[in-house]
Amino acid sequence: MIRLTDIKLDLNHQAHELQDAILERLQISEDQLVNFSMFKRGYDARRKNKIILMYTLDVDTKINTELLAKFSNVSNVKETPDTSYKYVAQAPENLPQRPVVIGMGPCGLFVGLVLAQMGFKPIILERGKEVRERTKDTFGFWRKKILNTESNVQFGEGGAGTFSDGKLYSQVKDPKHYSRKVLHEFVDAGAPEEILYVSKPHIGTFKLVTMVEQMRAKIFELGGEVRFSQRVDDIEIVNEQVQSLTLATGEKIETNYIALAIGHSARDTFKMLFDKGVYIKAKPFSVGFRIEHEQTVIDDARFGKNAGHPILGSADYKLVHHCKNGRSVYSFCMCPGGTVVAAASEEGRLVTNGMSQYSRHERNANSAIVVGISPEDYPGDVLAGIEFQRRLEETSFKLGGSNYDAPAQLVGDFLAGRASGEHGDVVPSYKPGVTYCDLSETLPQYAIDAIREAIPAFERKIKGFSMNDATLTAVETRTSSPVQITRDKELLTSLNTKGLYPAGEGAGYAGGILSAGIDGIKIAEAMAIAMMKDFESN
Ligand code: FAD
Repeated sequence: MIRLTDIKLDLNHQAHELQDAILERLQISEDQLVNFSMFKRGYDARRKNKIILMYTLDVDTKINTELLAKFSNVSNVKETPDTSYKYVAQAPENLPQRPVVIGMGPCGLFVGLVLAQMGFKPIILERGKEVRERTKDTFGFWRKKILNTESNVQFGEGGAGTFSDGKLYSQVKDPKHYSRKVLHEFVDAGAPEEILYVSKPHIGTFKLVTMVEQMRAKIFELGGEVRFSQRVDDIEIVNEQVQSLTLATGEKIETNYIALAIGHSARDTFKMLFDKGVYIKAKPFSVGFRIEHEQTVIDDARFGKNAGHPILGSADYKLVHHCKNGRSVYSFCMCPGGTVVAAASEEGRLVTNGMSQYSRHERNANSAIVVGISPEDYPGDVLAGIEFQRRLEETSFKLGGSNYDAPAQLVGDFLAGRASGEHGDVVPSYKPGVTYCDLSETLPQYAIDAIREAIPAFERKIKGFSMNDATLTAVETRTSSPVQITRDKELLTSLNTKGLYPAGEGAGYAGGILSAGIDGIKIAEAMAIAMMKDFESN
């Protein structure tokens, strides 16, 4: 097959123009073309009234070898790379141990799935409930303000991204094409086929819930085990080697191989690991607000007269501003046509985030507007970042009325430094509700100053961004992990604890669903290779 990149066509091009572009690029006749498929489709909307579609196509012709030789010096005509996934090991039936995976977010799911596919029969332990029960608890919190600290937006089958926009793109380097494996597994589990070729795929909440169930069923069929409401409270380490772990129920499980895929909100588990002496260091993360506009404002600003075009869908944005005080402010986890969600996992603390359905048809667009901070901003031990997050979450909880309503302010009032009293054109989507106030107490002054400078700067990129009625809700603290559980670059084990594999977002090795899945595959491979080596040497 031949891969053609940079095929550019008008947004409203006719179907036959794709084939015409192939014939023209390869200088071949129609009867020399066998077939072609779309590998990627993106768009360039820098000129909103002249939006261009950009294709990467895989083409089969009767003269592939000849053409590859002819175009060998042309960068946008190359042989299609082999992106199929190849397993690194196959477990023998008499393997004496089973690997254990802690956490069933996207990272743990892929560690477990790939280990199961290689015959290692993993045991996955998840502190939260199975996804349908978890959905009831989470929606219950949004409607009735009853928080279940073990079953919520952060904890439970599917992990943190289950009630989300389900964006599936990442900027991580992926030379082994693991992202294709993740996307193919998602399609097998019921995700729309288009995630394989659109440049910014997303799935949305309801589809994710079903997919997670399908993937769990696959792990079971392959001999794996998934256990819910099983919080790991202790890990026994002897001579810097993992020996076993203990659950909150008191049950002990012996194993020398543990994947630690606990996400960024398992604060109690971070503390347990720190107390045990597992090597952990503080890392930078970001804090800020959710901002909401009507989606039509974003669509008009980004797509002009093309707003509403079915190929484009609801518009997103990605913004960054470097402030005079040295801070950077950027948009994060943008959810077109979605809702702001209550994402707390601890009593008396309030956290916002965003989600959407596959259709992205809700009235508002939302995204986090966050300021980068580093360990110098919260001096203390390596867990000081967690205490810093907690303080911000507690302040927001109190400002919101101490009942999980979120504190909110209109952008116009925030920029003018006065409290808000009620909503304007943008009706906030956060459930259970919002309390209008002055948000300047919710973040440190340097962050408030930075966001006040950034919002008008963003207006220059998205017309309407700083409109008076756009709404801010506080507080966004769970942007990434406040710690890194550092691991060996090759073996992927903890720097000082053999057999412990820090994985995914909580360990500081992923930021998002796709990168967490990719990291899960890497960890499964590292564990499989280590288990086979130990088995063969015994
Ligand atoms: P997690 O998904 O956090 O999973 C960790 C799991 O470990 C949890 O299920 C937890 O219950 C379990 N656990 C923790 N401690 C223990 C313990 N001691 N014992 C047993 N189990 C334990 N990313 C995107 O790419 N696109 C999006 O659109 C997107 N939207 C998001 C929307 C929301 C509301 C949220 C909260 C996140 C969103 N994210 C999104 C981020 C994404 O969800 C995370 O990056 C991703 O889930 C990280 O995967 P993970 O497996 O490393 O950790």
